[in-house]
Amino acid sequence: MASAWDRAKEMAEKHSGSGMFLRLTNDGDRVVGVFCGDPDPREMHWNGEIYEECTGQACNHCAAGKKPSLRVAINFWLAAENAVKVLEGGTMWFRDVLAVRDKYGLDKWTFEVKRIGKANDPKTRYSILPEERIEPALRVRIDACPLHDLASLGRGDAYEAPEQPGTGTVDDATAKALLGELRALPRPEVEKFFAAFKIGRLRELKAVDVPEVRAYLAHAAGDSTIPF
Ligand SMILES: [Zn+2]
Repeated sequence: MASAWDRAKEMAEKHSGSGMFLRLTNDGDRVVGVFCGDPDPREMHWNGEIYEECTGQACNHCAAGKKPSLRVAINFWLAAENAVKVLEGGTMWFRDVLAVRDKYGLDKWTFEVKRIGKANDPKTRYSILPEERIEPALRVRIDACPLHDLASLGRGDAYEAPEQPGTGTVDDATAKALLGELRALPRPEVEKFFAAFKIGRLRELKAVDVPEVRAYLAHAAGDSTIPF
Protein backbone atom coordinates (compact mmCIF):
# COMPACT_ATOMS: atom_id res chain seq x y z
CA MET A 1 0.00 0.00 0.00
CA ALA A 2 1.44 3.35 -1.02
CA SER A 3 1.74 5.69 1.90
CA ALA A 4 0.80 9.35 1.84
CA TRP A 5 4.54 10.08 1.82
CA ASP A 6 5.05 8.03 -1.32
CA ARG A 7 2.14 9.75 -3.00
CA ALA A 8 3.38 13.19 -1.98
CA LYS A 9 6.85 12.39 -3.27
CA GLU A 10 5.42 11.16 -6.55
CA MET A 11 3.38 14.34 -6.95
CA ALA A 12 6.34 16.55 -6.07
CA GLU A 13 8.39 14.83 -8.76
CA LYS A 14 5.62 15.17 -11.26
CA HIS A 15 5.26 18.86 -10.56
CA SER A 16 8.93 19.68 -10.68
CA GLY A 17 9.51 17.42 -13.66
CA SER A 18 12.62 16.23 -11.87
CA GLY A 19 11.68 12.58 -11.88
CA MET A 20 11.94 12.57 -15.63
CA PHE A 21 15.34 14.22 -15.94
CA LEU A 22 18.48 12.33 -15.11
CA ARG A 23 20.73 14.49 -13.02
CA LEU A 24 24.41 13.84 -12.58
CA THR A 25 25.09 16.51 -10.01
CA ASN A 26 28.30 15.41 -8.32
CA ASP A 27 31.76 14.40 -9.41
CA GLY A 28 31.77 10.73 -10.40
CA ASP A 29 27.98 10.37 -10.66
CA ARG A 30 27.22 7.84 -13.38
CA VAL A 31 24.36 6.21 -15.20
CA VAL A 32 24.29 3.23 -17.50
CA GLY A 33 21.73 2.88 -20.22
CA VAL A 34 20.81 3.32 -23.84
CA PHE A 35 20.32 6.47 -25.92
CA CYS A 36 16.91 6.19 -27.58
CA GLY A 37 15.17 8.10 -30.34
CA ASP A 38 16.01 11.49 -31.77
CA PRO A 39 17.73 14.31 -29.92
CA ASP A 40 15.94 17.58 -29.20
CA PRO A 41 18.35 20.51 -29.52
CA ARG A 42 17.37 23.91 -28.17
CA GLU A 43 19.06 27.25 -27.78
CA MET A 44 18.73 28.42 -24.20
CA HIS A 45 19.96 31.18 -21.95
CA TRP A 46 21.38 30.51 -18.51
CA ASN A 47 20.07 33.26 -16.26
CA GLY A 48 22.26 32.29 -13.33
CA GLU A 49 19.75 29.86 -11.87
CA ILE A 50 17.85 28.17 -14.64
CA TYR A 51 17.74 27.98 -18.40
CA GLU A 52 15.24 30.00 -20.34
CA GLU A 53 14.42 29.19 -23.89
CA CYS A 54 15.73 31.60 -26.50
CA THR A 55 12.69 32.95 -28.29
CA GLY A 56 14.66 34.18 -31.28
CA GLN A 57 13.72 37.59 -32.63
CA ALA A 58 11.83 38.74 -29.53
CA CYS A 59 14.35 37.32 -27.05
CA ASN A 60 15.20 39.68 -24.20
CA HIS A 61 18.44 37.86 -23.44
CA CYS A 62 19.65 38.14 -27.03
CA ALA A 63 18.67 41.83 -27.03
CA ALA A 64 20.88 42.24 -23.94
CA GLY A 65 23.77 40.76 -25.90
CA LYS A 66 23.79 37.36 -24.21
CA LYS A 67 24.63 34.39 -26.37
CA PRO A 68 22.40 31.34 -26.09
CA SER A 69 23.88 27.93 -25.29
CA LEU A 70 22.98 24.76 -27.07
CA ARG A 71 21.22 22.24 -24.84
CA VAL A 72 20.38 18.88 -26.26
CA ALA A 73 17.94 16.47 -24.64
CA ILE A 74 17.59 12.82 -25.52
CA ASN A 75 15.64 9.87 -24.20
CA PHE A 76 17.81 7.50 -22.23
CA TRP A 77 16.75 4.06 -21.11
CA LEU A 78 18.08 3.74 -17.58
CA ALA A 79 19.24 0.19 -16.92
CA ALA A 80 18.90 0.48 -13.14
CA GLU A 81 15.20 1.32 -13.38
CA ASN A 82 14.20 -0.24 -16.69
CA ALA A 83 12.59 3.07 -17.53
CA VAL A 84 13.21 5.88 -19.97
CA LYS A 85 14.40 9.20 -18.54
CA VAL A 86 15.65 12.36 -20.18
CA LEU A 87 19.33 13.14 -20.37
CA GLU A 88 20.37 16.66 -21.24
CA GLY A 89 23.71 18.25 -21.94
CA GLY A 90 25.59 20.96 -23.76
CA THR A 91 27.65 21.15 -26.91
CA MET A 92 30.71 19.22 -25.74
CA TRP A 93 28.57 16.49 -24.23
CA PHE A 94 26.57 16.17 -27.44
CA ARG A 95 29.72 16.00 -29.55
CA ASP A 96 30.77 13.02 -27.47
CA VAL A 97 27.35 11.44 -27.99
CA LEU A 98 27.85 11.89 -31.75
CA ALA A 99 31.32 10.38 -31.52
CA VAL A 100 30.16 7.18 -29.80
CA ARG A 101 27.20 7.06 -32.17
CA ASP A 102 29.59 6.98 -35.10
CA LYS A 103 31.97 4.53 -33.52
CA TYR A 104 29.67 2.08 -31.76
CA GLY A 105 26.09 2.81 -32.79
CA LEU A 106 23.65 4.07 -30.17
CA ASP A 107 21.25 1.20 -30.82
CA LYS A 108 23.89 -1.49 -30.42
CA TRP A 109 25.47 -0.71 -27.05
CA THR A 110 24.63 0.38 -23.55
CA PHE A 111 26.74 3.32 -22.46
CA GLU A 112 28.06 4.65 -19.21
CA VAL A 113 27.73 8.42 -18.83
CA LYS A 114 29.86 9.76 -16.03
CA ARG A 115 30.29 13.23 -14.65
CA ILE A 116 33.85 14.48 -14.25
CA GLY A 117 33.71 17.70 -12.27
CA LYS A 118 32.30 18.94 -9.00
CA ALA A 119 28.88 20.56 -8.66
CA ASN A 120 28.75 23.99 -10.31
CA ASP A 121 32.18 23.58 -11.90
CA PRO A 122 31.88 25.09 -15.39
CA LYS A 123 34.76 22.90 -16.54
CA THR A 124 32.68 19.78 -15.87
CA ARG A 125 32.69 17.29 -18.68
CA TYR A 126 31.15 13.89 -19.19
CA SER A 127 32.74 10.67 -20.30
CA ILE A 128 30.60 8.43 -22.47
CA LEU A 129 31.91 4.88 -22.76
CA PRO A 130 30.41 1.72 -24.21
CA GLU A 131 29.35 -0.66 -21.44
CA GLU A 132 28.02 -3.76 -23.18
CA ARG A 133 26.43 -4.92 -26.38
CA ILE A 134 22.64 -4.96 -26.46
CA GLU A 135 21.41 -8.54 -26.73
CA PRO A 136 18.07 -9.19 -28.48
CA ALA A 137 16.29 -9.91 -25.18
CA LEU A 138 17.44 -6.59 -23.76
CA ARG A 139 16.38 -4.81 -26.94
CA VAL A 140 12.84 -6.11 -26.39
CA ARG A 141 12.82 -4.76 -22.82
CA ILE A 142 14.10 -1.36 -23.93
CA ASP A 143 11.63 -1.07 -26.78
CA ALA A 144 8.77 -1.83 -24.39
CA CYS A 145 9.49 1.40 -22.50
CA PRO A 146 7.70 4.45 -23.92
CA LEU A 147 9.84 7.44 -24.85
CA HIS A 148 9.12 10.95 -23.61
CA ASP A 149 7.83 13.47 -26.09
CA LEU A 150 10.85 15.77 -25.91
CA ALA A 151 9.34 18.52 -28.07
CA SER A 152 6.53 19.06 -25.57
CA LEU A 153 8.83 19.08 -22.58
CA GLY A 154 9.57 22.21 -20.59
CA ARG A 155 13.29 22.35 -20.05
CA GLY A 156 13.55 25.39 -17.81
CA ASP A 157 14.61 23.36 -14.82
CA ALA A 158 17.74 21.98 -16.42
CA TYR A 159 20.17 22.00 -13.62
CA GLU A 160 23.61 23.20 -14.48
CA ALA A 161 25.34 26.26 -15.85
CA PRO A 162 26.59 26.04 -19.41
CA GLU A 163 29.88 24.29 -19.87
CA GLN A 164 32.60 26.74 -20.72
CA PRO A 165 35.28 25.05 -22.77
CA GLY A 166 38.23 27.36 -22.79
CA THR A 167 36.22 30.33 -21.61
CA GLY A 168 37.07 29.91 -17.95
CA THR A 169 38.95 32.78 -16.38
CA VAL A 170 42.61 32.76 -15.59
CA ASP A 171 43.76 30.92 -12.45
CA ASP A 172 45.15 32.78 -9.43
CA ALA A 173 48.81 31.92 -9.93
CA THR A 174 48.79 33.05 -13.56
CA ALA A 175 46.87 36.22 -12.69
CA LYS A 176 49.47 37.09 -10.06
CA ALA A 177 52.35 36.47 -12.46
CA LEU A 178 50.70 38.68 -15.08
CA LEU A 179 50.05 41.33 -12.46
CA GLY A 180 53.79 41.42 -11.77
CA GLU A 181 54.50 41.94 -15.46
CA LEU A 182 51.84 44.62 -15.78
CA ARG A 183 53.27 46.52 -12.81
CA ALA A 184 56.50 46.83 -14.76
CA LEU A 185 54.69 48.70 -17.52
CA PRO A 186 53.93 52.41 -17.65
CA ARG A 187 50.34 53.34 -16.86
CA PRO A 188 49.29 54.20 -20.45
CA GLU A 189 50.56 50.79 -21.58
CA VAL A 190 48.57 49.13 -18.82
CA GLU A 191 45.45 50.95 -19.94
CA LYS A 192 46.07 49.94 -23.53
CA PHE A 193 46.44 46.35 -22.36
CA PHE A 194 43.06 46.34 -20.59
CA ALA A 195 41.41 47.91 -23.63
CA ALA A 196 43.05 45.42 -26.00
CA PHE A 197 41.74 42.43 -24.06
CA LYS A 198 38.41 44.06 -23.25
CA ILE A 199 38.63 43.44 -19.52
CA GLY A 200 38.17 45.67 -16.51
CA ARG A 201 40.13 43.50 -14.09
CA LEU A 202 42.89 40.96 -14.53
CA ARG A 203 40.73 38.23 -13.02
CA GLU A 204 38.29 38.60 -15.91
CA LEU A 205 40.94 37.47 -18.35
CA LYS A 206 40.04 34.28 -20.17
CA ALA A 207 42.40 31.38 -19.71
CA VAL A 208 42.53 30.80 -23.47
CA ASP A 209 43.85 34.34 -23.95
CA VAL A 210 46.88 33.85 -21.72
CA PRO A 211 49.37 32.92 -24.51
CA GLU A 212 48.27 35.98 -26.45
CA VAL A 213 48.62 38.10 -23.32
CA ARG A 214 52.15 36.86 -22.76
CA ALA A 215 53.10 37.70 -26.34
CA TYR A 216 51.49 41.11 -25.96
CA LEU A 217 53.31 41.83 -22.71
CA ALA A 218 56.67 40.69 -24.09
CA HIS A 219 56.18 43.04 -27.00
CA ALA A 220 54.96 45.92 -24.82
CA ALA A 221 57.90 45.52 -22.43
CA GLY A 222 60.34 45.50 -25.33
CA ASP A 223 58.81 48.60 -26.88
CA SER A 224 58.46 50.55 -23.71
CA THR A 225 60.53 53.71 -23.78
CA ILE A 226 58.43 55.66 -21.35
CA PRO A 227 60.21 56.16 -18.04
CA PHE A 228 58.27 55.91 -14.81
ZN1 LIG B 1 17.94 34.51 -27.11
